[in-house]
This record gives sequence, C-alpha cells and structure tokens, in this order.
Amino acid sequence: MRIVKTAAAMQKLALTWRREGRKVGFVPTMGYLHAGHVSLVTEARRRVGLKGIVVVSIYVNPTQFAPTEDLSRYPRDFAGDRRRCAEAGADVIFFPTDAGMYPGKAEGRYSTYVVEERLSQGMEGGSRPTHFRGVSTIVAKLFNLVLPDLAIFGAKDWQQAAVVRRMAIDLNFPLKVLVRPTVREKDGLAMSSRNKYLSPEDRELATVLHRAMSAAKAAVNLQPASAKALKSSTEALVNGQSSGRLDYVEFFDPETLEAVDVVKPGAQMALAVHFGKTRLIDNAAL
Ligand code: AMP
Repeated sequence: MRIVKTAAAMQKLALTWRREGRKVGFVPTMGYLHAGHVSLVTEARRRVGLKGIVVVSIYVNPTQFAPTEDLSRYPRDFAGDRRRCAEAGADVIFFPTDAGMYPGKAEGRYSTYVVEERLSQGMEGGSRPTHFRGVSTIVAKLFNLVLPDLAIFGAKDWQQAAVVRRMAIDLNFPLKVLVRPTVREKDGLAMSSRNKYLSPEDRELATVLHRAMSAAKAAVNLQPASAKALKSSTEALVNGQSSGRLDYVEFFDPETLEAVDVVKPGAQMALAVHFGKTRLIDNAAL
C-alpha cells in the first residue's frame, strides 16, 4: 500500500491508471477509521476487482467545520488507519496537507468553492450553514485528483450522500456515486469517529437515536402518522435522557429530501442530538 501526500503526485498517479485502463474505486474519509469506513473500502475492492485500484483519502477538511466546531480536537490515528486500510485491501492512502488541498489559503488567496443549493438546505445544512459548501468543495477537488470510476459513501450521512450525488451529476463528473448501509454497534448506535468523545454514561444514552427511529418505525408501520406528532414524541424521548438534547428531527422523501407531513413506511427519518459538546447524527428508512 502506498501513501501519497501531495495533490500533484495523486493526480499524476491517477492519470497513469487512466492511461492503463485501470478501474479506480474511491472512499473519501476524515480518518479515525472504524468498521463503517472499512465496509466502504471492502466494497470498493469488490467492485473494482483485483486489477483495479482502491484509494482511501484521509483528510480532516477544515472548510466543512464552523469556527465553533471540533476541527482541532477531531480524533486522529494514522497508524491505525493505515493498518485498517491495508487489511481492507486499499492500494493507496491519499493523505494531503491543508496547503496542498487549499493552495494559497493561509495567505488569503484561495477563493473557489462548490455550492449545491437545494438538497443542502435544512437538516445538517440548517444546523451547520457552511458545512455542505465545505463538503462539496473538498469532494469535487478529491474527484479531480483521484479521477475515480466510482466513489463510495455511507448512508449514515444521508444528506451528504444526496448532495454529493447531485453535485457529481450537475458538474458532469464521469463517475458513479454508491451509498452503502450504516454499520452499527451491537446496541444500535451508528459507528462514528465522534463516538469516542462520549463519556461512558452518554455512550449508553446515545442509543436513544436508534431507539427513537425504532419507535417511529413501529408507529408508522401500524398506521400513517403526522410528522408533527412524531417530532413531538421523538423530542420527548430524546430530551427525557439526562444529557441528550435534540437538535432536529425530520421526516422526508429519501430521494428528494423534501419534508413529508404524513409519514408512511418508506419515508426517511433523520435526527441530530447533542450530548454535551458531542453532536451525533443518524437516519433510517421507516
Ligand atoms: P467521515 O470520516 O465521518 O467523513 O466518513 C467517511 C465516510 O464513511 C462517509 O461516506 C460516511 O458516510 C461513511 N461512514 C461513516 N460512518 C459510517 C457507518 N457507521 N457506516 C457506514 N458508513 C459510514
């Protein structure tokens, strides 16, 4: 497995693969890899075959964090990530620096961003107004450097996957965006690099995201329910935990992300919950 650290070297390598006609599968991450990330790398390997190339990027992208967020304390473990990538069958880790990804930014010269204007409104975009501008920008840049045939994202970040898929179509990237299911802990908590921040008490209470989705699913499987009523019962359940505070809960069409008033099986539910300084998100089909 090879570690590539500069944008120029990454792009040069990708152009070589393209000339050789090798299929490239790509998994963008912020590192601190867990079994959810590994499932994406394994799927990339399966899709491109033994002759293909699997690239994993590890980059904590500053432009998708607001100044008040956890950029500086975001967990990092390059040695562990390297081992997990090798075990899952990656060929290359792209591990760039801020100066490489945002040329001239430290001197105030960097000035180009990619903005998706519809799917990125609301939910994560509502709570983190500059987040998706950062995500679309970095993903577009990574696509230009890795030149993948397919890029794999996790369903855990449902809105992100929708925004990226739209951006790839709108900007004519010649690649396929695939979305893989959320990998969970045994008790239902979605795996996330941010789970590390949780105190043992909050780690137990954090199953409330999964419990809230199970409760909503049970309710709508009995009969269609109003989004308003489901939002109130979710809020009561989450805020009833000693340290949980609901940021948002939404019920929406899984493709268009448009909110639904009457929730039926097949609708998507997404929620974000604060536990102290830690903010967790999750979503599921009902
Ligand atoms: P991150 O490192 O959090 O930016 O995530 C990198 C990719 O891994 C994104 O496409 C995420 O949606 C995906 N991912 C994160 N957590 C999980 C999980 N528990 N199951 C599946 N995919 C995940």
